[in-house]
Amino acid sequence: MLNIVLFGPPGAGKGTQAEKLTNKYNLVHLSTGDIFRANIKGETDLGTLAKSYMDGGNLVPDEVTIKMLEAEVDKNPNAEGFIFDGFPRTTPQAKALEDFMKGKGTTISVMMALDVAEQELIKRLLSRGKDSGRADDANEEVIANRIGVYNNQTAVVADFYNKQNKFQKIDGMGSIDEIFGRLCAAIDAFKVQL
Ligand code: ADP
Repeated sequence: MLNIVLFGPPGAGKGTQAEKLTNKYNLVHLSTGDIFRANIKGETDLGTLAKSYMDGGNLVPDEVTIKMLEAEVDKNPNAEGFIFDGFPRTTPQAKALEDFMKGKGTTISVMMALDVAEQELIKRLLSRGKDSGRADDANEEVIANRIGVYNNQTAVVADFYNKQNKFQKIDGMGSIDEIFGRLCAAIDAFKVQL
């Protein structure tokens, strides 16, 4: 299996690139943010719980997030591989994912981290907020909190994969196609070793 963790701060372009990679490599795309938003829209109990955290730009508690993600993986027993987008966002989530995948006889192949300057992130998020209807993209205070949460709680997850020699930094500046080309080159180089 080819299991990719697509990593990077809010606004780095994970969702956009994950969509393109999913089509090219025939993977299943699991975005925890998208799954939470679908639950909010469907007014499920999970959605109600997640909403209060998400609107403020804070993380949904690990226990809830991990359980949900594992259930989504289990819904795709025939997948050739997964792209995890927005997960793991904490070290406990990374550990849980590792144990869970091991239990299935597989593992995370690589973490690809999109590297984008902070000013560019804020610009992209505010621009997305104009038409996405996402409450967490609408104001600069919440955006600043999300970037703070990323720096304080999420950035360390890169170390977890770095220690396993699975960390790859990808330049996330430039056009969507340029960045996609870089990701594909990294995956293709990696697949040769598989
Ligand atoms: P972005 O990466 O652009 O901030 P996402 O759509 O990935 O947006 O996530 C939106 C929100 O969903 C996060 O701010 C957080 O509240 C919640 N969320 C998503 N993934 C996780 C996760 N793995 N753990 C905890 N909360 C999460």
